[in-house]
Amino acid sequence: MARIRRRALIPLLLLAAAVFGIIALNVYYAGSGVIVYMYHSVREEPVNADDEELSVRPESFEEQLRFFAESGRKTIFASELPKVQKGGKYLALTFDDGYEDNYTEVFPLLKKYGCKATIFMITSLIGKEGYLSAEQIREMTASGLVSVQSHTVSHEPLALGDKEFEDVDGEFRNSKIVLQTISGKRVNAVAVPNGSYDPVVLDIAQGYYDVIFSGTSFKLYDYNPLDVPRIGIYRRHTLWEVKALTEQRGTYMAVRTLQKLIGK
Ligand SMILES: [Zn+2]
Repeated sequence: MARIRRRALIPLLLLAAAVFGIIALNVYYAGSGVIVYMYHSVREEPVNADDEELSVRPESFEEQLRFFAESGRKTIFASELPKVQKGGKYLALTFDDGYEDNYTEVFPLLKKYGCKATIFMITSLIGKEGYLSAEQIREMTASGLVSVQSHTVSHEPLALGDKEFEDVDGEFRNSKIVLQTISGKRVNAVAVPNGSYDPVVLDIAQGYYDVIFSGTSFKLYDYNPLDVPRIGIYRRHTLWEVKALTEQRGTYMAVRTLQKLIGK
């Protein structure tokens, strides 16, 4: 009798530990008021055949945006991150590279739901096929719903060794000048491409920008202007996952860990 009880106790203890873990994770993540999401392209036909994940379906994106608009989180530009109020609930939606679908697919939906977004533009691609034109950048930034910030000139790896100091400096300086000239707005945020950077690169960037994204992470935003983490949203993400990421980070993390453990 006692042996059976003891045997039944083990799964019960494991379950209690798991529940406690999920609650603790949610409390931990709920402490931070700002979430930063990273998108790339939004279109039905993937923009890159080798990397379909970069293109979120327009229908999925609209579902996500509707949820964000109703979530009680205020959408802000990446450039506004240093000014957020403690205790507030914020969401910064960011789009890397400057795909033209950010104008054709994303911009109309931002207007429909009254949400703000930031586009990190590779300035050497402005006006190139499949990418935003200067005119589209001007129209979007003039609306007050879109902020266009730097994703450097060339999108090449910046870690010194890959590049000379002057070249890295030029990537940060010239992209800022070009975007400020086109939009007539201040450019103070940059997303460092490919996560390729080192302390010197961040030092150079700091000379031109207040907000620097140097990679992605599953941490919630904890304000550090030098190295701001972002969470990538990809084609595979379901609305449930995006909701869980936004509202129940701990549950999402626990489910993802379990999926990885069982190889799903
Ligand atoms: Zn990029």
